Formats: sequence, C-alpha cells, structure tokens
Amino acid sequence: MNELVTAPADFCYPPGLISVDQALDFILGRARVVANDELLDLVDATGRILRENLFSPLDVPGYDNSQMDGYAVRAKDVTTAGVCLPVSQRIPAGRPGPTLQPGTAARIFTGAVIPAGADTVVMQENCQPQGDSVILKGPLEVGLNIRPRGNDIRAGDPVLRAGERLTPPGVGLLASLGLRQLSVTRRLRVAIFSSGDELKEPGQSLAVGEIYNSNRYTLTALLAGLGCDELDLGQVADTPGATEAALREASANADVVIGSGGMSVGEEDHVKGALERLGTLEMWKVAVKPGKPLAYGRIGGADFLGLPGNPVSTLVTFCLFVRPFLLKRMGARRVAPHPQPVRAGFDWPQPRNRREYPRARIRTSGDGLPIAELHPRQSSEVLSSTVWAEGLVEIPEGRVIQQGQLISFLSFTELFH
Ligand code: AMP
Ligand code: MG
Repeated sequence: MNELVTAPADFCYPPGLISVDQALDFILGRARVVANDELLDLVDATGRILRENLFSPLDVPGYDNSQMDGYAVRAKDVTTAGVCLPVSQRIPAGRPGPTLQPGTAARIFTGAVIPAGADTVVMQENCQPQGDSVILKGPLEVGLNIRPRGNDIRAGDPVLRAGERLTPPGVGLLASLGLRQLSVTRRLRVAIFSSGDELKEPGQSLAVGEIYNSNRYTLTALLAGLGCDELDLGQVADTPGATEAALREASANADVVIGSGGMSVGEEDHVKGALERLGTLEMWKVAVKPGKPLAYGRIGGADFLGLPGNPVSTLVTFCLFVRPFLLKRMGARRVAPHPQPVRAGFDWPQPRNRREYPRARIRTSGDGLPIAELHPRQSSEVLSSTVWAEGLVEIPEGRVIQQGQLISFLSFTELFH
C-alpha cells in the first residue's frame, strides 16, 4: 500500500502509441550535445552548462580567521574567570598583525587573520574592555571561533563537474576560488512557431472564432528559463505552403525547432506532412495525456519537436520531453526532473491507457508526506489550471489509485528552469 504506484510491466499500449518512457528514451537518444564551447566570464555564466571538471586552486579559507568580533588570545593565558590581559594589537579583516605576544590579547574582527601565537577567539559579548586591557572569562577551549584554513574547500578538491548547470551559489563558489573564466556550451538556438489560422496576438482585437496565441508566450518564457537563444517565427497559417516555409526558415537558422499546433491528422493540420516532405518524422504519438500527438523529427541539421496546440498540452509536453531534450543538447548531465513522492489526495478509479499528468497542488499532511490535490478541470485547454497548480502528478497507465497511495509529483519550480 505504501509503494509508489508504477505502470504494470506487461501493459499493452493502444496501437500506434509508444510509452512515455520509450518516447523519452528515443528523444534523448537523438540529442547531440552542441559543438563549439565558449569561454565565458563568470558574471555571464549563470544557467550555462560547464564543459570541464573544476578543481579548487586554493584552500578556502586561505588562512585561519576569526568567526567573530572579539579578542584573539592563547587559551592557556585565560584559565579562570576574570583574567585581565593588555590589548597588544588591533587586527581588522584584510590587515594581518604580528605574532601575538604571550600574556596579551589582540582585538580582532570577523574574517581577520588569526595572528601566530593565538589559538582561540573570545566573542566580544563575553569580554569587558578596560582602558588598554580586556577582562576575559576562562577557561577557554582551543580553536573556539576560529575558521581553520581549508575548512570549506582544500586546494585540489573537485568543486563542479562537467555537465553541471551553473546556479547562483555555483557562480559564487567559483568566484570564491578566484576563477574568472569558464568553458561552457554555447547557447542553444531554438526556433518556435505557432500554427493556427485562429491565432491573434495580445493587443489585437478578436473576431468570433479567434483566440489569442498563448503558446508562443508560454514557450518563449520556458526557453528563457532554460537560457536558450530564441528565434520566434510567430504565427503560421494552416496551409502546406506556409508550414513548409516556416520549417525551412526555422531549420536553417536554429539547432532545434519547436512547433505548436497542427500536429494531428485533421485536414487543417499540416505540420506532420510538411515535416515528412522536407525532412523525416522519426517519432509520433505518445501514450500520454495531455499531449498525445507529440512528434520528433529532423530537418537538415535541426531537430524538430512538434507539440500539440492545446495550451496545457504544449506546456506539459515541453516539461516532460522538450526540456530534458534541450538540457541534454546543452550538455547537461542530469536532464530528468526529480519526482517527489506524495500521497494522492484523490481517488483515480478508472485505469487509463495513457500515462496522465494532471495539474496538482500540494498541501502538508500529518505524517509529513505532502498530499496532492487535483484541479477540478483537467481538460487540455484549461490554462488557468496550470497557474493554480504547483506541478504535475504522474498517474501510471493501467492503474487505479486510492486516496493515500504514493505517487510521483513533478514540481513546476524545477520544470520551469
Ligand atoms: P491543434 O493542435 O492545432 O489542433 O490545436 C488544438 C487546440 O489548441 C485548438 O483549440 C487550437 O485553437 C488551440 N491552439 C493551437 N495553437 C494555439 C496557440 N498557439 N495558443 C493557444 N491555443 C492554441
Ligand atoms: Mg490547429
């Protein structure tokens, strides 16, 4: 009952559909890391993927230093309460002082070098200055309030590995080691276009039958989150000619082309046909909901990912398939999201023949494991559900789920970066 629910091993998929796992394996198998690394200044490197293993050239900290504002002394000079020592020097951060004379104290500040001869620091709250002397409370422990050299990192320690994406703390860490330039993969150039005669831009007026092109904005924002360089071809008419022209222009100018809409088989869907005429369709239709008509193909040197037009389908297929694909293309080592175990806060009484990813919110429960609640409207055009939600839960194909069972949750916090 407490096991994470997964799909049955012998599950039979509907004809023509491949499983989520097969689709992901297939797509990732096609993802080649972009060539041509670049050397970037650290300030420009956040979000980029490292191409080299980095080792520390230094000990950090580089010298024993004070963790507190206070007085540096020898512990053996302060064995009882009320010892009074003359203050022989003052050591601010950045200005090391001479060896501490026995029987004296050094006024010292946070980050300042511990003078030779001192072996402990008394925090100033426990000291009473008196003229040129200070009264200290003993006995003292050796090493107290001292940050030893190399405590954080030692010279030669591995710090970041090739394939890691540089986070704000990562950049800070590299700066603390004095590294100024890094070898990273170049930005991936990604072209997007939105198929649909009904699509208008925000700011334009809508006639009956028209809608605003939201996928264009969702995709642009998702690509920005991944640090891709975007080429936005805008809206494309539902004709073979316009679709082919868009595919040609996109594939000639980008590493990866993402289309939304027009991926199904209605007479108004022209993307699949155009792709087959100009390049190759290598994968199509996945047993996933939302997002069944997802496609992968190649045109010239570019990859093509065709996403279904419904706004939730576009978002979900991007998160599940396109994001890992782009990350791998960018040279990332870890591309799959980290699923978190949560308890189902709902019943799922009917087994389905596709893996479903309903939008969910998380609340905390008594036993510490979060509980996932589903948005009441899960159909693939309800974009408001994606704003309400904090992520997606995974409902394995062929399973029923009872409240309280453990399922996987994929957080938008991770999926949107
Ligand atoms: P399609 O995949 O072209 O059959 O479109 C499926 C549904 O998604 C239709 O209701 C379209 O109007 C809608 N749709 C397609 N593209 C977009 C877009 N870029 N923004 C918002 N909705 C879209
Ligand atoms: Mg359409």
